[in-house]
Amino acid sequence: MPDIEASFDDRRGNETRVNLCQPSPNPQLSEELTLDPQDWESIRELGHRMVDDMLDFMRTQREKPVWQPIPRDVREFLTQPLPSEPTAPETIYEEFAENILPHPLGNTHPRFWGWVVGGGTPLGAMAEMMAATMNPTLGGGEQVATLVELQVIDWCKQMMGFPHTASGLLVSGCSKANLIGLTVARNQYTDVRNKGMRNQPQLRVYGSKEMHFSIKRALEMLGIGAENLVLIPTDADYRVDIAQLEAAIAQDRAAGYEPLAVVGCAGTVNTGAIDDLDALADVVERENLWFHVDGAFGAVVALSPELRHRVKGIERADSLAFDFHKWLHVPYDVGCVLVRQHEDHLRAFASPSHYMGHNERGISADTYSFGDYGVQLSRSFRALKVWMTLREHGIEKFGRMVEQNVEQAQYLARLVRQTPELELVAPAHLNVVCFRYMVPGMDADELDAFNQELLMRLQESGVAVPTYTVLNGQYVFRVAHVNHRSRYEDFDILVGAVREIGATMLEEMQTINVGEYRMLA
Ligand SMILES: *Cc1c(COP(=O)(O)O)cnc(C)c1O
Repeated sequence: MPDIEASFDDRRGNETRVNLCQPSPNPQLSEELTLDPQDWESIRELGHRMVDDMLDFMRTQREKPVWQPIPRDVREFLTQPLPSEPTAPETIYEEFAENILPHPLGNTHPRFWGWVVGGGTPLGAMAEMMAATMNPTLGGGEQVATLVELQVIDWCKQMMGFPHTASGLLVSGCSKANLIGLTVARNQYTDVRNKGMRNQPQLRVYGSKEMHFSIKRALEMLGIGAENLVLIPTDADYRVDIAQLEAAIAQDRAAGYEPLAVVGCAGTVNTGAIDDLDALADVVERENLWFHVDGAFGAVVALSPELRHRVKGIERADSLAFDFHKWLHVPYDVGCVLVRQHEDHLRAFASPSHYMGHNERGISADTYSFGDYGVQLSRSFRALKVWMTLREHGIEKFGRMVEQNVEQAQYLARLVRQTPELELVAPAHLNVVCFRYMVPGMDADELDAFNQELLMRLQESGVAVPTYTVLNGQYVFRVAHVNHRSRYEDFDILVGAVREIGATMLEEMQTINVGEYRMLA
């Protein structure tokens, strides 16, 4: 029972007397609805079971197949009618444990190397539960969650060599971070924010032809248009060709276009290539453009003393996008955008309103509103899982994890080179290894079909999950390695499985035409 009268000290040290009114007993009280449990003890028991089961799930990953197709009954389970009546939490949990938990994408498994997908951590998972329990929304208002996010952003600046005065925002991921960085760029050089696109100069954005599609989509959304993204060829190492970039800018200026920004790639999705960011920054400086860096996973290389030189120049970006949920292993989803000039960032998004305004004191006193730095007003407490994960391991260990993954990728590249049936199809400088199965006498189309079938069989076997890409017109296996659970032996297992499945397919081919593999798929 609270005291009828309680005293509070406000911020200025004044003593304020407050009467806390006790409601009189209300006969209707028992009929008032709430979503909280009637029986806290049973939800507590269920909660403990959930924690135990989740930790077991993570601990026993290695014993399970990486991935399996979703069974038909599970698909059917998820076509239920809209629930109109209540279901007991215990029942719902059992349904989850039976139908949902056992059929993941596989990215928490030590032999998952598909796309570029992080694996999460146990503490990160627990942090999600705590963040949801506090359930803050980080648009504004005086609350400590804001300070946690500000602290995380400050750490991001330190990790990436950005000035203390830079601004930043945690977002859903690098796609959103790219959009925000490029919005700030556009609004810096144009008044689209007020005037719209009419009568605007025809803006142009430049970057490697290997860049991620989220850049193109951002330009589509920003009204700049996909055709004004100028894709620059790369060298043999898949790094953007600086001379061709300069030529393209000069040519555009001569033709009356308005060059706006250069996008640097710190880790391309296809091969993990890192552009010469210092050289790009020089071009941007000479041309007075905006320098945005997409460092979704590769920016994290900055944490390794051994590899840091590869992203030299990243600290010169006007805006930098990178992910926590990929190579920093924080559970989905969370990425970060940093903007060098705080005012540029604010000018691009701040939207003053009375209902979000500030008071001198009280809950609206805090003057920092994340809602003024991006698209979202209501925002989850993503910062907590990042804060906890960075503290749990410390930045040095993340640097060593990056080095370990790069060394493991080199190990796989060596294995591929030593395996007669396999061909390494791109230099593996970082954490991405692209290779394919070679069969003498097959033409290009047959090889593509053969590798596609082999990859699908490998994934369905549950032994390992690479995905594919197309390099120089060839269908190739792609191992994108950001997995903190992989061991060297896992790459031996991968190569062994590829050889075995390939040999089986070759045996089958004695009876079936190779062209038919495409039909089988
Ligand atoms: C993954 C990725 C993105 C997109 O990031 P999301 O977090 O998936 O939104 C952008 N660029 C690169 C290079 C990526 O690897």
